[in-house]
Amino acid sequence: MSALRRQSHTCHTICQYPTVFLLLLLCGSAFAGEAAVDPTDNGVDVLQDSTVDIDSRSSETSVAAEELVDPTLTREYMGPLADAVTQAEGKAEALSILGSEIAPGTSQRLSWSATELFEGVPVSTPVLVANGIAPGPTLCLTAAVHGDELNGIEMVRRIFHDIEPRKLSGALIGVPIVNVQGFRRGSRYLPDRRDLNRYFPGNPNGSAAARIAHSLFVDVIANCDALIDLHTGSFERTNLPQLRANLRDPDVVTLTHGFGAMVVLHSKPTIGTLRYAATLAGIPAVTVEAGGPSQLELAEVKHGVKGVESLLTTLGMTRKRRLWGNPEPVYYRSSWVRADNGGILLSDVSLGSTVRKGDLLGTITDPMSNARTELRSPYSGRIIGMARNQVVMPGFATFHVGIETDEVSASEDKEVEVVEKTGDGGYVDGMSE
Ligand SMILES: [Zn+2]
Repeated sequence: MSALRRQSHTCHTICQYPTVFLLLLLCGSAFAGEAAVDPTDNGVDVLQDSTVDIDSRSSETSVAAEELVDPTLTREYMGPLADAVTQAEGKAEALSILGSEIAPGTSQRLSWSATELFEGVPVSTPVLVANGIAPGPTLCLTAAVHGDELNGIEMVRRIFHDIEPRKLSGALIGVPIVNVQGFRRGSRYLPDRRDLNRYFPGNPNGSAAARIAHSLFVDVIANCDALIDLHTGSFERTNLPQLRANLRDPDVVTLTHGFGAMVVLHSKPTIGTLRYAATLAGIPAVTVEAGGPSQLELAEVKHGVKGVESLLTTLGMTRKRRLWGNPEPVYYRSSWVRADNGGILLSDVSLGSTVRKGDLLGTITDPMSNARTELRSPYSGRIIGMARNQVVMPGFATFHVGIETDEVSASEDKEVEVVEKTGDGGYVDGMSE
């Protein structure tokens, strides 16, 4: 199936189900998941602009909002990702995106401008497009939706550097720095301290975040047959390279099979994330989490690139040797260990360590009283995310323990049993993409 045909599906659906789409827009803006917590910020202007996009931490409201959207309506038209591969026959067509026509077998660097700075100068960011010589799916890569997450930027560069359009089937679209304003400031957030990844699919008449989200979604994401959104941990936390995927969605499961031996964590996407909005619009999407913010971590970058390049081969877009010895993905459900005391957190385990129930994960020492508390693993599993050594408050999510399971069990409600002990549905500030 050509990218163009798929694109027309997406537009068709928006027109066909305007009520659902409107609801989506409302959900995206009204139930933004996470409050921005820039330490230099008193939050005043966020509070003053309280029209429709009040930041909310309540996972309950998110669930309620999600129930407003009938998934059968939004998914009805969808062709599975596999169609894009198996039905790819005939001749490749020119790819029409951002006002340009990219001929088969060529690549171009385009520019996407979502918004203007205060002085009226458009802010643009590069969009890399490689249109293959043969037909196939259009795969999209987005990075730095959070402006301080650098590993994904380098992953996109490496993946595009390796692609030869004259040997490619289908098309690859990459946006290395989505949140260019946050990137320039070294910040996760937009200049108004909103989290862009709580505003998709956006709203052309909404807040700055909602407008940027809408522009990206309509101008770029609507062209995709599948999406990989590249992230890292946040707030001085780092993640073992892993996929976050909704394993209740068969097309998303298909996508996870392509990444080789990457860890897969079942997670229903938070409303307003790019992954959420894309999947709902019929574009199967996964998030790659690799490493932590504000650093370029070569091992994590290489791991992510290897996963995406495996996917390109699995989808029939490139022909390469098998990249992984063991191509089976490893499925996990997970639970966070939180600090019950404030103080200096020092780890005793490293990312990727295997732990048994009761093993010492780290200690928290009160810098005044010198009282030391131990953090022990409540489960046997693997450390798939953890805080860097730092000063923490009580309640801070410190170690993310992954519990290995099979694909089906990962998507069952067992996950909820584990995370409910935290009393907030497992929600961790800024950890969910
Ligand atoms: Zn992120």
